[in-house]
Amino acid sequence: EVKKNGKASHQIFSPELHHLVQQQNEFEQQLENALKGEEFFLTYQPVVCLKDRQVRGFEVLLRWQNEQLGLVSPERFIPLAEQKHLIQPIGRWVIKEALHRLAGIRQSLDDNSLYLNINLSPIQLHDDQLLKWLPDIIRETGISPSSVRFELTESALDADETVISSHLVALRKLGFRLYIDDFGTGYSSLKRLVEFPVDGVKIDRSFVHHMETDRNKQAMIEVIINMARLLNLHVVAEGVETEAQRLLLQEEGCRYAQGYLFARPLPEQDLRSLAGIPSEQGNWTLQAT
Ligand code: C2E
Ligand code: MG
Ligand code: MG
Ligand code: MG
Repeated sequence: EVKKNGKASHQIFSPELHHLVQQQNEFEQQLENALKGEEFFLTYQPVVCLKDRQVRGFEVLLRWQNEQLGLVSPERFIPLAEQKHLIQPIGRWVIKEALHRLAGIRQSLDDNSLYLNINLSPIQLHDDQLLKWLPDIIRETGISPSSVRFELTESALDADETVISSHLVALRKLGFRLYIDDFGTGYSSLKRLVEFPVDGVKIDRSFVHHMETDRNKQAMIEVIINMARLLNLHVVAEGVETEAQRLLLQEEGCRYAQGYLFARPLPEQDLRSLAGIPSEQGNWTLQAT
């Protein structure tokens, strides 16, 4: 039913809305305290090579465990962190923590070539400070920047082309690798690929989902893979959940993949159990449990 303006405006003071606003304020406060309270931890999802069936690296995925709220999804708290300018300290913690952990991860999996994929928010990419403290972390940890791939969503590349472009070039100069995340979901994907100096793309999982039965999705994936080949870019498929998807992707020439078929994002202590998986046995479900 349609309401008149007068009626709608006095609804602003409804107890329900008041409660919602209060809840939101509380949530913000909790997020603000999360770093200090050491409530964040990192999980790692294997990136697998489809050809030799081996783990090549991990995507770092942030988790927030709060006493009252329980485990909060990054889909929920990252947008708020971006809005409240909390993403800079949080994002910095993620990079620092991940690079400090990499040596241990390499040791427990007995593979010094393992790399890390780290998600970078558009706000972090914009921030001049990023380029100032990154070299410090590199020195501190002794990890080569070439072992780190920053994942940028297409929307990160939307704004202010000159700033973005100069920051991307600077990151590349430091030796970091750059990937476009959730590729295919944004606008003018093609233009960006040619314009910005990136090393690869990650096919968004919405294209992989139900690709077995959806010819259009298969066609999209084929186009992305062929284009990437022509441009000399790496391709990683996200969200691979079934053996059929794995087979189709491999047939289409996709070389790397991530997804629940291989492993979920795992806490560091569970990565150890990935180490002994014998590739010869074709054991595709790299479940740690
Ligand atoms: P993303 O970077 O695209 O990460 C992939 C998401 O897909 C992750 O969700 C992952 O757990 C999930 N996923 C992986 N395999 C499968 C699968 O087979 N099926 C399905 N259905 N999902 C799968 P998650 O961990 O909830 O992260 C969500 C988003 O939050 C990430 O999307 C990323 O944009 C953001 N995010 C996570 N950690 C960070 C971070 O440290 N910094 C920033 N800026 N963003 C982060
Ligand atoms: Mg990502
Ligand atoms: Mg993604
Ligand atoms: Mg995403």
